[in-house]
Amino acid sequence: MTASPNRISGAGRVVERAGGSLTPPHYPLWPLANTGVVALGRPFPGLPSPPVRSSAERRELLKGVYEEARGCVRCPLHHTRTTVVFGNGNANADLMFIGEAPGANEDRMGLPFVGQAGKLLDKLLAEIGMERNDVFVANTLKCRPPDNRDPHPNEIEACQEYLRRQVDLIEPTVICTLGNFSTKLLRADSTGISRLHGRAEIRVIGPRAVRLYPLYHPAAALYTSSTLEALRMDFHRIPELLALGPPEQPRAFEEPIPELDELLVEIQGPAGAGEAEPAAQLGLF
Ligand code: SF4
Repeated sequence: MTASPNRISGAGRVVERAGGSLTPPHYPLWPLANTGVVALGRPFPGLPSPPVRSSAERRELLKGVYEEARGCVRCPLHHTRTTVVFGNGNANADLMFIGEAPGANEDRMGLPFVGQAGKLLDKLLAEIGMERNDVFVANTLKCRPPDNRDPHPNEIEACQEYLRRQVDLIEPTVICTLGNFSTKLLRADSTGISRLHGRAEIRVIGPRAVRLYPLYHPAAALYTSSTLEALRMDFHRIPELLALGPPEQPRAFEEPIPELDELLVEIQGPAGAGEAEPAAQLGLF
């Protein structure tokens, strides 16, 4: 399929992608499989090449994961949620944001980042020439913890499979973790966001290497001007990271890389009528 290029400008840079509706560029999915390791995580064994999926296949598979998640009872949060907040946005996005957990507004509406933190996220996206439907936004937990308390480790462990499958299917080039919880989960260590924000690194998530870019959670920036300033500065580097394209993929090694469910480590840190239909929750697909 030939489509007109889609150009996303920001911070004086332009990211150009093939496909008028953010169809992913024809990145070679596994071209460097035996040419060297760039991932900071442990190398992984000879995995089969990831499947090449069309945009339509990707959307359908993602909807299938959502259908599983919306009835999920894997952790006690299903007792108190109103709606499973699966995440939404562009299933073909190069840029993915991963926050902490739904809040009250998100729980009610079934969409991520719809409150004040979401408005700030939208504002920052606009500053780099992007919109919400250019990206995919999800959370570490798909259900709201009561009273917006911090997620519990057992909840993160129970829920991480959905996040892993989202990343696998969307195949983002850049993942921005928002705040401590998603940063610690995807980096598999307990280093806090105040030390890591704005420091991009290459990490292996599932079968692929991605550019992982920890940012302060927008909710933390709402009431602290210095945090907002840091978040904005970090945010403005996103186009630069996208312009780098996907990182080199690691080659096969003998030692297995741990799955995400093995990577759950000490997770501690700060936060973020009727169930929406799939078409509404995934309305931007
Ligand atoms: S938080 Fe995740 S694991 Fe727990 S019930 Fe919701 S979807 Fe299932």
